[in-house]
Amino acid sequence: MSKNKKRGLIDRLNVGPVICAEGFLFEIEKRGYMSSGEFVPMVSLENPEALENLHKDFQHAGSDIVQAFTYNGHREKMRVIGKEELLEPLNRAALKIAKKVANNPLGKENNLMAGNISNSNIWKQGDKKPQLEVEKMFREMVGWAVDEGADILIGETFYYAEEAYTALKVMKETKLPSVITIAPYGENIMRDGVSILDTCKELEQRGGDVVGMNCHRGPNTMLPYLKKIRKELKCHVAGLPITYRTTDDHPTFFNLPDNNGCSCHTPHETTFPTALDPMQCNRYEIRKFAKEAFEIGINYLGVCCGANPMLIREVAETVGLKVPASKYRENMENHYMFGKNKRIPKHIKDYRNKA
Ligand SMILES: [Zn+2]
Repeated sequence: MSKNKKRGLIDRLNVGPVICAEGFLFEIEKRGYMSSGEFVPMVSLENPEALENLHKDFQHAGSDIVQAFTYNGHREKMRVIGKEELLEPLNRAALKIAKKVANNPLGKENNLMAGNISNSNIWKQGDKKPQLEVEKMFREMVGWAVDEGADILIGETFYYAEEAYTALKVMKETKLPSVITIAPYGENIMRDGVSILDTCKELEQRGGDVVGMNCHRGPNTMLPYLKKIRKELKCHVAGLPITYRTTDDHPTFFNLPDNNGCSCHTPHETTFPTALDPMQCNRYEIRKFAKEAFEIGINYLGVCCGANPMLIREVAETVGLKVPASKYRENMENHYMFGKNKRIPKHIKDYRNKA
């Protein structure tokens, strides 16, 4: 297949898994190019090479989709930080960077570039004024995404059912394939009272090509819902958890306590978002999630906040893909102490339990 030929998202999903890296917000913040808490993706304007590198790292790890980093890059957030005039430049820059990376794949086939809209945080149940405002925000961002050559559109992290429906409506106006994923909070219900399953059923009815869940929940508290969603829906299903050990008592990362002997608490009330590190899932936990999700027929897979290239590689390899970063997967065989390589001296190997 020539580099310029590109299969569509649904064609790819019909024959196998498709990997999508999300979670840019946390990863870019960790790399030092974004303020935590405020979380505005100014990186596309201020440090474009850092964003391009992040996309390349995820591509190298197996992400088939290069999702433009416009999360929180919407008009309302730009108003909060007093930089509304940078809204369109920010969006276009993020889209152009994503497109550039998508069209320079490491394998034979181009990646898919995705335009992105997300939770607005001004949506209010039963209040038409903010709802219309949100719809306008979605429409302008989707317009820029289409302009810049998006192959698909992703609407994600919605915790109001009606806001997700609105995002889907706007995305569908473009005729591009649409991925729509929800992120219910710890009450395990959408904030407008619709159940998680009913929201997903409705999104399918309204024409979502891929429907599912992303963000807020780790594997433990997302997978049970994904199982129900997969059972009830006919369309492709998406699962992109955060990479933290959420529990039934704390289903999301917003109020996740640190029970790991933390001796130095954050200056604010929660471990979210700056002190979640001890609750990070290891790669084997992410592998377990990807395996179980794939086995029940979920083909659109990735991880959200807490994602790093190593974990994306883990997801990709779990579902049978070999990716460029597979070259560097773990090889304990040659470890200086734990390895089985016969060149490793016995007195070093024998010391392992005292190390
Ligand atoms: Zn996330």
